[in-house]
Amino acid sequence: MKIAIYPGSFDPATNGHLDIIERSSRFFDKLIVGVLDNPRKKSLFKINERIEMLYEITQHLPNIEIDYFSGLTVEYAREKGASVIIRGLRAMSDFEYEFQMALTNSKLAPEMEMMFLMTSSKYSFLSSSMVKEIAMFGKNNLQLIDFVPETIARRTIEKYHLGSNGREE
Ligand code: ADP
Repeated sequence: MKIAIYPGSFDPATNGHLDIIERSSRFFDKLIVGVLDNPRKKSLFKINERIEMLYEITQHLPNIEIDYFSGLTVEYAREKGASVIIRGLRAMSDFEYEFQMALTNSKLAPEMEMMFLMTSSKYSFLSSSMVKEIAMFGKNNLQLIDFVPETIARRTIEKYHLGSNGREE
């Protein structure tokens, strides 16, 4: 069975992430989307929220597993029996970092292959940080509708604009 891992923060997942998931999953029996639980990186969504959202937006795909991990991606990939790690590339700025990671991973796990998918042009500018920025300054789900699935738009707006009692602030 050919298994691939798509690791990332997914804080939150965007249409750009979903595009990479849909396109890459076609080439494998199973694609595991691995949410990195990194306590040193401040995140908007808790790990279980990020998993829940990924689960909701990938219901139409038959061969996706949503999971989380901490520590080295290559170790996690080995544990899951994966032979390929998927990453998405948006711009030259991604390339620099990804190239360094790929070389490091190939030293740590020579049997593991890194595969890079070029972003679709309509998502080339799209990042989780941009989505958070729009949600922080806007209150309308519609402003996010081109960037994230509806359920994620709603939850991201709620994060910034609803208090812990569920009332608008
Ligand atoms: P990380 O913190 O590991 O970079 P992200 O959730 O930001 O986690 O991204 C996970 C992966 O998805 C990375 O390979 C990133 O380059 C890719 N990615 C993010 N946004 C897009 C997009 N709009 N188009 C294509 N790939 C993307």
